Amino acid sequence: MKKGLISKVQRYSINDGPGIRSTVFLKGCNLNCMWCSNPELIDFSQSYLDGKPVGELISVKDVVKEVIRDIDFYKESLGGVTFSGGEPLLQSDFLLECIKLLKDYSIHIAIDTALYVDKKIIKKLLPYVDLWLVDLKSIDDITHIKTTNVSNKIILDNIKFLYKNNVNMWIRCILVNKENYDLDELKKRLNFIESIKKCVKRVDILGYHQLGVSKYQKLNKEYLLTNEALLSDIQEKEVEELIKEYVLPIYFERGI
Ligand code: SF4
Repeated sequence: MKKGLISKVQRYSINDGPGIRSTVFLKGCNLNCMWCSNPELIDFSQSYLDGKPVGELISVKDVVKEVIRDIDFYKESLGGVTFSGGEPLLQSDFLLECIKLLKDYSIHIAIDTALYVDKKIIKKLLPYVDLWLVDLKSIDDITHIKTTNVSNKIILDNIKFLYKNNVNMWIRCILVNKENYDLDELKKRLNFIESIKKCVKRVDILGYHQLGVSKYQKLNKEYLLTNEALLSDIQEKEVEELIKEYVLPIYFERGI
């Protein structure tokens, strides 16, 4: 049975999909977003935070055993299990084994992903995943490369692939002043989302927040953003006005 590199399993999570959920955080990511609030999960190699190692090899059986403890909560709240990270799709064989076992218990499965992976990985998981939580960090490729280190071409292509397969998606758009935010670009992101709206059950527009900043110093990593990355009151108002033009189920969370 396979083992996965896991940083933690968070119980009673309410922000990673519908209902009450357990979120399994997998270590390792192939992006490097300027605003990442989990920088300790980016490297596959061992890292330490507050003197404690981040990430442990855990078997499929042990992950499943841990998350089915809360099966009654999932059933009552229409929740389930979310695999997040990091980028969970980078450990796809382990992920697939976990998900198949959880499906034997009829547990709702969500995957929180940036989708910067080969389509083959998505194809093999597709039949077992109930909800895809997808980030759309910028529709402009130059901005995407500048802020995440990778092109958005594969990501957009994979979103279209999910759409063609008629899956359920929640899409999240982070807005970072001076980095990936301007109103025209946000319009383009929302227009793209509107073009696939039959699959989109929810859109979260998230103002930049500073959670996780203190981790950078502890990890000896440089943090490139400043307070200027927060949207101004005027920008927040223009976002609120813009989203009124769409019939999508959009939720806007101001930054902090
Ligand atoms: S995709 Fe997520 S985990 Fe990876 S670097 Fe970006 S914000 Fe961090």
